Amino acid sequence: MTDNKTFPSEIPTLYIVPTPIGNLGDITQRAIEVLSSVDVIAAEDTRHTGKLLAHFNIPTKTYALHDHNEQQKAQVLVDRLLQGQSIALVSDAGTPLISDPGYHLVNKCRQAGVKVVPLPGACAFVTALSASGLPSDRFSFEGFLPAKSKGRQDKFREIERAERTCIFYESPHRIMGSLQDMLAVLGPERIVVLARELTKTFETIQGMPLGELIPWIEEDDNRKRGEMVLLIHGYREDVKDEIPAEALRLLKLLVAELPLKKAAAIVAETHGLKKNLLYKWGLENLE
Ligand code: SAM
Repeated sequence: MTDNKTFPSEIPTLYIVPTPIGNLGDITQRAIEVLSSVDVIAAEDTRHTGKLLAHFNIPTKTYALHDHNEQQKAQVLVDRLLQGQSIALVSDAGTPLISDPGYHLVNKCRQAGVKVVPLPGACAFVTALSASGLPSDRFSFEGFLPAKSKGRQDKFREIERAERTCIFYESPHRIMGSLQDMLAVLGPERIVVLARELTKTFETIQGMPLGELIPWIEEDDNRKRGEMVLLIHGYREDVKDEIPAEALRLLKLLVAELPLKKAAAIVAETHGLKKNLLYKWGLENLE
């Protein structure tokens, strides 16, 4: 059943080791074996990782490798690998390099011909996608949303017509602002899933049209708390109401001054939409 050829490795190796995203039971047997037997563990936050190691009685020493020192410390670790040591890379939670440090180290290792062995394990966006009920045949992981409203709206405009599921990480203090920006660009009918506190006591996975999801979250402050992933259903031509709120606003403004046909043509041109879709919506809602 198991083929343990890659472990323990006889040649110096950098192991990429995922750690749990909440539930400690999600660590793998192989992660414990690797963390226990390497010479050093490169960790994003040595105190945080220290607690995990203590829980599993792993005595291995740690070495700090975070966003602010990675470029310079990566070379020190590559040198240690070239001298014959084996190293495990972990982040605070989940899979290293996924919205976490590690890219520079892995890149340098591969350039230096150092063996890199990845272990499979916990990752918040994969966990969220698997239970979201959204299409998982094509998706993109987009990392954290920009901090400012303009950046977020630009991002949503970029994916507005994408047919794949789009996945973002978000923090509790920005969630409502992000959802309002999403509403302004993608409109109230777009299905969005909020997956929060995955693998923990208050795990919640709720998916509904954005126009309903926002009030649902606002009903209970707890729904804005904790760690969260946002998943957006891809664009569907056949969803008749899927006209972005911004386009509808412009259409309403223009119709006050122009015939509906002309207004629909302008909005279709500026938002990359079908003229007939806007014209029909105008007939049903504005005339
Ligand atoms: N490397 C991690 C991974 O593999 O998913 C992600 C690290 S990133 C710095 C942290 C973000 O991941 C959080 O802000 C949240 O968006 C998401 N996340 C991490 N754990 C989560 C959980 N248990 N439930 C929901 N989202 C989580």
